Amino acid sequence: LHQNNEVLKQMNKQLEEQSAQIAEAYEQQRSLNELKDQFLLNVNHELRTPLTEMQGYLELLSEHAGRIDTHMQATFLAHALHGCEELHHLIDTVLDALRGNLRHSPPRTQVLAVAPVVEEVLHLFGPQTRQDYQMVLDVADHLTVVADQGYLHRILLNLLSNAFKYSPKGATISISAQPYRPRFQKHGATEFLCICVKDTGPGIPPAESALLFSRFVRLHRDLAGSIRGTGLGLSICKQLVETLGGQIWVESSGMAGEGSRFCFTLPTAPHVSAQEG
Ligand code: ADP
Repeated sequence: LHQNNEVLKQMNKQLEEQSAQIAEAYEQQRSLNELKDQFLLNVNHELRTPLTEMQGYLELLSEHAGRIDTHMQATFLAHALHGCEELHHLIDTVLDALRGNLRHSPPRTQVLAVAPVVEEVLHLFGPQTRQDYQMVLDVADHLTVVADQGYLHRILLNLLSNAFKYSPKGATISISAQPYRPRFQKHGATEFLCICVKDTGPGIPPAESALLFSRFVRLHRDLAGSIRGTGLGLSICKQLVETLGGQIWVESSGMAGEGSRFCFTLPTAPHVSAQEG
């Protein structure tokens, strides 16, 4: 009888463990589903906004064709084109994120001067956006990284568009680059450059900062707010930076006005992954 009791106790324990595992798996599935629903809502909204802009201006153009001057026609077309560009950017973002890993497009790394890539990305925002903010650039001409130019372009584009998007007009946005040595690195190992995009916007509450680099995650205050987003840009940055052998993080006190500083590192000499060497 005593032996039977022991066996029963053991079985009971195993059952309890299994039901705890099932409950955990169920909880994970539930939060994944919530994230997916939130993402679909965001993307639905994101897709419709540029489409509505395009449709509205093209309708105006077709209704008034022949009755409006060429200047007006050009303005309507510029708005419709803006909608096309936004849609293009959004589709690229969603596809990049859904590809999940980058095996289909391995990086083509080369030694790259950072300053010209920063300039190129800044130009994409147009003169009006750049005038609306105080821009501070501190990237010396001689600084280089070993990276894929398209990847570096995309990382900077995502971080800068967030800085512009989440900071009020007049905020200061700085881009800086400094040599960097990770704290726990063996002597003589890879050297890195640390590139930072800092803004003076609303900042990131520290409790939420660790999750921001996961797919579909947006800050609570932005889920209900008027600033549109999919929660994909930072997860793409993380994926690209890590593929190149670097790291990405955010520093912020969470106090409005003190803003956030997004930093990422990239190797300055060819990167050797743990598997290779
Ligand atoms: P998206 O901006 O499309 O929502 P991201 O992955 O780029 O997606 O950013 C995730 C979230 O992080 C944003 O929704 C926003 O809540 C927050 N965030 C990102 N950058 C900033 C920033 N510079 N200042 C304040 N909040 C930011």
